[in-house]
Amino acid sequence: MPQFDYDLFVIGGGSGGVRAGRVAASMGKRVAIAEEFRFGGTCVIRGCVPKKLLVYASQFPEHFEDAAGYGWSLGDAGFDWKTLIANKDREIARLEGIYRGGLERAGAQMIDDRAVLVDQNTVRIVGQDRTVTARHILVATGGRPSNHPALPGSEHAITSNEAFHLEELPKSIAIAGGGYIAVEFANIFHGLGVETTLIYRGKEILGRFDMDMRRGLHKAMEDKGIKILLHTIAHSVDKRQDGRLDIALSDDRTLTVDKLMLAVGRTPNTEGLGLEAAGVETGPVGEIIVDEYSRTSVDNIYAIGDVTNRVQLTPVAIHEAMCFIDTVYRDKPTTPDFDAIATAVFSQPEIGTVGLSEDDASDRFEELEIYRAEFRPMRHTLSGRQEKMIMKLVVDAASRRVLGAHILGVDAGEMAQLLGIAVKARLTKDDFDKTMAVHPTASEELVTMYQPSYRVKNGERVG
Ligand code: NDP
Repeated sequence: MPQFDYDLFVIGGGSGGVRAGRVAASMGKRVAIAEEFRFGGTCVIRGCVPKKLLVYASQFPEHFEDAAGYGWSLGDAGFDWKTLIANKDREIARLEGIYRGGLERAGAQMIDDRAVLVDQNTVRIVGQDRTVTARHILVATGGRPSNHPALPGSEHAITSNEAFHLEELPKSIAIAGGGYIAVEFANIFHGLGVETTLIYRGKEILGRFDMDMRRGLHKAMEDKGIKILLHTIAHSVDKRQDGRLDIALSDDRTLTVDKLMLAVGRTPNTEGLGLEAAGVETGPVGEIIVDEYSRTSVDNIYAIGDVTNRVQLTPVAIHEAMCFIDTVYRDKPTTPDFDAIATAVFSQPEIGTVGLSEDDASDRFEELEIYRAEFRPMRHTLSGRQEKMIMKLVVDAASRRVLGAHILGVDAGEMAQLLGIAVKARLTKDDFDKTMAVHPTASEELVTMYQPSYRVKNGERVG
């Protein structure tokens, strides 16, 4: 048996890589983990966590407005972007410290440098210009926002990476894309007082979600004052003398804004990683191709998280890391389970969802019962806010199993986590009906919708 410097070398210190490295080290494996930027990865450093902090910040103007109906009168509210960003950065640094501390306590060696593959068992630490060997290598290098090179003038645009560090808040912004990031940032910027336009090429925002959620959120966003241009593409971007941007749109109009943010998907970080030298195969967008155990085309090299372009979500990367540990170190080959992943869009209002949309369910099941409620939540009564909440259960008529649960409204993300358990456990509508309501809450609606709002048979709505 050849001797290696390490049992495991992890390339990439994001959610997936850190989890795998930490757990392997705590099991007594000799682990090194290399990170060229900051430990914590996209989620902690320039993704989920800072995004959620900005979401909280952007919700205050609505809280201030709502307060009046509850008897509060407030003075003029002021907002300072620089304070928010500095406080956010402090929190991110604290979290990065926790990630590092966890690795250190577990006994993993952290390498603050870029690492690339040389061959099946050898990694080069680029900045230190030395090589090390490892029995197993785990690639968890994540992805980055696509900078859309096909768009002439795209070099004038920012992505979510830069949005977290803008020197000042722009007066106006256009955001290209209709996915999670575009929608979340449109709400953040609008909430902070920026004139915001979303430019989306499709027929409705948030392609993979239930249509009621998509339409409901679209309406809520427009009611707040966010402009949404559907069936529209940015054709080119020109920078004017005054620094503003002219965006030529596919409908022949020109949109002039202070900033353009691209949120048109993310690209796996695989360039220059030495994958070819090691014999690791990649797919059409540069993603590492893996089998159901996250094993690459080279049997001792594994890949997890966004670099594999499977499901780009932090909890999924962490789950894949734990499956890797089970497979490689616990003699318990385990495949990640991607079924019924609960997820949230931190828009305003939020979307929380798990399982099949009505459209996807009607493709797979002969007859569905759809339970749908649309109402103004109690908290909006005294505030006078007109925003509606939508709750929807998609049920297989034959087995009564709840196939999908979808919520638009306050705290929908929190609800999705709990609904995720029910849908994952394949509970039926009868189980929901037997569950006592928690009163008065918005979520009690989920267990008190006794009659289907309508049925869907062979893809057709039937009353
Ligand atoms: P998404 O895949 O969600 O959305 C990309 C959007 O860009 C789609 O609307 C797509 O349109 C559009 N698009 C793609 N290519 C072009 C193009 N050439 N021209 C115009 N529009 C284009 O990616 P995001 O970047 O929003 O997010 C990346 C991933 O990060 C998500 O898939 C999600 O898994 C994760 N994420 C999760 C969050 C959460 O859990 N809350 C928050 C943020 C990100 P079309 O629909 O027509 O393909």
